[in-house]
Amino acid sequence: MSKTIQAIRGMNDCLPTQSPLWHKVEDAVKNVVSSYGYSEIRMPIVEVTNLFKRAIGEVTDVVEKEMYTFEDRNGDSLTLRPEGTAGCVRAGIENGLIYNQEQRLWYMGPMFRHERPQKGRYRQFHQVGVETFGLQGPDVDAELIMMTARLWRELGIDKHVRLELNSIGSVESRANYRAVLIEFLEQHIDVLDEDCKRRMYTNPLRVLDTKNRDIQAILVDAPQLADYLDDDSKEHFSGLCALLDAAGIKYQVNQRLVRGLDYYNKTVFEWITESLGAQGTVCAGGRYDGLVEQLGGKPSPAVGFAMGLERLVLMLETLELNDVRNAVDVYLVTAGEGTLINGMKLAEELRENVPGLRLMTHFGGGNFKKQFKRADKVGASIALVLGENEVSENTVVVKDLTGGEQQTLAQSELAAYLANAI
Ligand code: ATP
Ligand code: MG
Repeated sequence: MSKTIQAIRGMNDCLPTQSPLWHKVEDAVKNVVSSYGYSEIRMPIVEVTNLFKRAIGEVTDVVEKEMYTFEDRNGDSLTLRPEGTAGCVRAGIENGLIYNQEQRLWYMGPMFRHERPQKGRYRQFHQVGVETFGLQGPDVDAELIMMTARLWRELGIDKHVRLELNSIGSVESRANYRAVLIEFLEQHIDVLDEDCKRRMYTNPLRVLDTKNRDIQAILVDAPQLADYLDDDSKEHFSGLCALLDAAGIKYQVNQRLVRGLDYYNKTVFEWITESLGAQGTVCAGGRYDGLVEQLGGKPSPAVGFAMGLERLVLMLETLELNDVRNAVDVYLVTAGEGTLINGMKLAEELRENVPGLRLMTHFGGGNFKKQFKRADKVGASIALVLGENEVSENTVVVKDLTGGEQQTLAQSELAAYLANAI
C-alpha cells in the first residue's frame, strides 16, 4: 500500500460530526449581523503581498513571520490572506463603495497564518469580520460592541466573556507617547527579548502587546498612553464609554491594549474568555480611520472587528453548549418488490410539501432490523415503513423511534403529520 497523504499541519478538516456546531455559530452570526442591517461582502482569499504589507504594517508579527507568501506563475508576489480588513478596504476602494458613502459590511471565511499550531491557534482558521466605513462618531463603535454582545447572548456564552477597551489616540498623539515610551524601554533594555529590542525603535507600542511575562511585569510602570491622548480621541472615548454604560455593557479599560496590527487609532477592544486557556481572545477590533487613505482611497473613517470561529466553536464545546440537531429527522425503510421506487417517489413528494424536512432513504436492502439500526445510527426520530401491502393500499407505517409507538397513515395524510411532528 502506498503511504497516505495527510493534511497540512495546522489546517483542519471540519468533519460531519463537527459541522452542525459550526452551522450553529455561523447561523447565529448571520442572524445577528443582518438584524443590524449589515450586508455581506466576499473577497478573494489571495491578494497581492503589498496590500498586507501596507495595511498591516511591516513591523508586525503577521507580516514579519506569519504570512503564506508565494510567487505565482507570472512572478507576482501573492499572499493567502492573513486577515480580512485589508482585502475589504481594497475591494471597497476598487469598487467605489467607500467614496463619500456609508457602508456596513460583514464577511466570513478562511484566513492563513504560519503560526505554531496549538489549541485555538491554527494555520488555516476562520474569521467573521464586520467593517463600517464613512462613520466617525463613537455611536457606531458602540453598536459594533453591542452587536458582539448580542451574539454572545445568542450563543449562550455571555457569562464567559469580558470586554477590554482602550483608546490609542491619533497618529500624532501616539508620536508624542512613542518618544517617552522609547526612553522608558531604553532603561529596561536588559529585560527585553529580541523581538522587543528590534521593535523598540520601529514600533515601540507593539512592545506593550508582548506575551513575554517578564516584560509584561516591567511594563506595569511604563508611561501611560492615556496621558498623551489628544482631545478629540479623549472625547470619542468618553462618548463610547457613555454609550456602553447606557446599553448596560460592562468593560474594563486596559491601558496596555494596543492590538497587533498597525492600522488602528482611537478605539481598540477585545473580548476575552478564560475558558480556553492561553488563546483567550475570541474577538478583536477597533477604529482605523487612516487605512482607506493609506491604501490609496479618499480618506474615510472606518471601524470594525474580527472574531475567530474556531475559538467560538471550542468555547461551545468546552461549556458543553454543543447540543445540535441530528442531520436526519425521518428515515425511510422499504422492503418488498417495487417498494423502493414507490418509496423514493413518496420521499420526493414529502420533501416538496414539508418545509425543512430532512428525510433519508435507506439504500442497499437488508431486513427491517438492519434498516432500523441505520435509522438509529443517523439519529432519525421517525421511521417510515413501506412494504408491499402499504404500497398497494397507499398507506405507510409511521414508527416513532423515540417512544417506539407505531401507526398506519394514509399517504395523503403523511405530509401534514410530518410537518407537525418534526
Ligand atoms: P492573537 O493575539 O491570539 O495572536 P491576533 O491579535 O493575532 O490574536 P487578530 O489578528 O486580531 O488576532 O484576529 C482576530 C481574531 O481571530 C483573534 O481574536 C482570534 O479569535 C482569531 N485568530 C487570530 N489568529 C488565529 C489563529 N492562528 N488561529 C485561530 N484563530 C485566530
Ligand atoms: Mg496573532
